[in-house]
Amino acid sequence: MRPKRILILGGTGLAREAAAALLGRGHHVMSSLAGVTSQPHLPEGDVRIGGFGGFEGLTKYLQSETFDLVVDATHAFAAQISRHAAAAARSTDTELIRLQSLAWTALPPDHWTDVADIDAAIASLGLGQKIAVTVGRKDVAKFFARVDLSGVARMIEPPETVVPPQWHVVLERPPFMFESETAFLRAHGAAVLVCKNAGGMRPAKLDAAAALKLPVVMIARPEKPVVNVVGSVEELLGSLAQAR
Ligand code: NAP
Repeated sequence: MRPKRILILGGTGLAREAAAALLGRGHHVMSSLAGVTSQPHLPEGDVRIGGFGGFEGLTKYLQSETFDLVVDATHAFAAQISRHAAAAARSTDTELIRLQSLAWTALPPDHWTDVADIDAAIASLGLGQKIAVTVGRKDVAKFFARVDLSGVARMIEPPETVVPPQWHVVLERPPFMFESETAFLRAHGAAVLVCKNAGGMRPAKLDAAAALKLPVVMIARPEKPVVNVVGSVEELLGSLAQAR
């Protein structure tokens, strides 16, 4: 197969896996990171960091770099970049494949409330509840804004807003183990865990919540444009081999 010039829109573990696998097959890979974390896990191969400047910027970038393929391997909740990628790929006639793992599903004895978005998650919480939130630094401000709520918010980088006194912020990055997740939820006395349905391998926090009989508010993924989707790096490699 002729080596392809591939742009991976990344910022996820799956994107790093894809970069390594595609390089291993002899393709030319450029990974793109948003630049939102100060010490990102870097993928193998070439990397560019920072936004493109919206749809127009990404379109210009695709025109000047002439990629054969864009792999949108961004996080399931990174909706804007996926919209820009779909529109820019269409306008430059560049092939686009989204690499996105399956959403998590509740298994007995999970006790989940599925909600549509962050606002619905907040609306679902009882008055004065103590919660553990793992929704990332961008979305945590809305929880802080509800003055009756308290608890712990875990994220990789500090939040952009002031942390109210009834909240603890824990700065940590995955991977997390079952024992430490159980200890984390216990230590902060959380009565509910709120998280985004990122998908992929079931994380230890869900098993820890189930073991502690803790209810989980699970935020559904935002809509993304309809494009070709593969669920794994193996499937991505398979679709490239077919396209040869
Ligand atoms: P977003 O809302 O979809 O995108 C916001 C802006 O960030 C985009 O318009 C784009 O800027 C820039 N951007 C996003 N991903 C980029 C990439 N891979 N390369 C270059 N620029 C990118 O995204 P987000 O939710 O802020 O997430 C930012 C990054 O963090 C994503 O790459 C995502 O994979 C990763 N991430 C997100 C979450 C989450 O919960 N949202 C969790 C883990 C990791 P321009 O318009 O200037 O091009």
